[in-house]
Amino acid sequence: MADASEMVLTYFQKGFNYSQDGPGNRLVYHLNGCNLRCPWCSNPEGMAPDSKGRTEDVKALASAMISAGPMYFEGGGVTLTGGECTLQFDPLKALLILLREAGVDTCIETNASHPRLPELFPYLNTLIADFKHPDPELHRQWTGTDNLPVIRNLRAAAASDLPLQLRVPLIHGVNDDDAALAGFIAFFKEINRPGLTVEFLRYHEYGREKWEKQGLAYTMKDAFVSPERAAFFERACKEAGLHVIRT
Ligand code: SF4
Repeated sequence: MADASEMVLTYFQKGFNYSQDGPGNRLVYHLNGCNLRCPWCSNPEGMAPDSKGRTEDVKALASAMISAGPMYFEGGGVTLTGGECTLQFDPLKALLILLREAGVDTCIETNASHPRLPELFPYLNTLIADFKHPDPELHRQWTGTDNLPVIRNLRAAAASDLPLQLRVPLIHGVNDDDAALAGFIAFFKEINRPGLTVEFLRYHEYGREKWEKQGLAYTMKDAFVSPERAAFFERACKEAGLHVIRT
């Protein structure tokens, strides 16, 4: 891997957020680029790797993040998300190494599809990973990619001792049917262990305006999930022995 001083990262948004992007108060950077094409994406402006963003070198970013230390209260730290943060893999890894050396708590939010994802585990305090659909064909149909690399990575994460937060965007007509629920439970039970949590995030339309602003068609229709249906998913997972959370 090249030296961190030669590397840059491009991000399209940054800011503090409390408890929703990992523990405590966190400085969250949204890195550019994503390899998936979810039609419900709430950050379509960050999907393309060449989308508008700010580019900074890794060492300067690490210094800025380390100097924000007093803000990381209640177990907080730095979260790298996206888009899909692992698309800028080597600079991301270099940044995580620098942060960990400085004692900063680190977390990434990822779609978990990058083949080298497990290389990052030693430099993370928390891994937040999406699992969008248990059926490979439907996963491909909705996101444009297979879920097998995701399954492989989540198995590897579950075999580590890393706190692992699994997130499912729950979307009517996509993954809120009984067959999907059975698939989620079967896979989550297979990889379940202490420190693994599951969260269902009900569909929202925060992205609609952004898609339209960019001249892109927002194609999701009738995708809202009722609170009762989401609670049914949560209850079924709890009954299967899973630790279900809401952040
Ligand atoms: S994986 Fe996340 S960032 Fe990428 S397209 Fe899907 S919702 Fe958007």
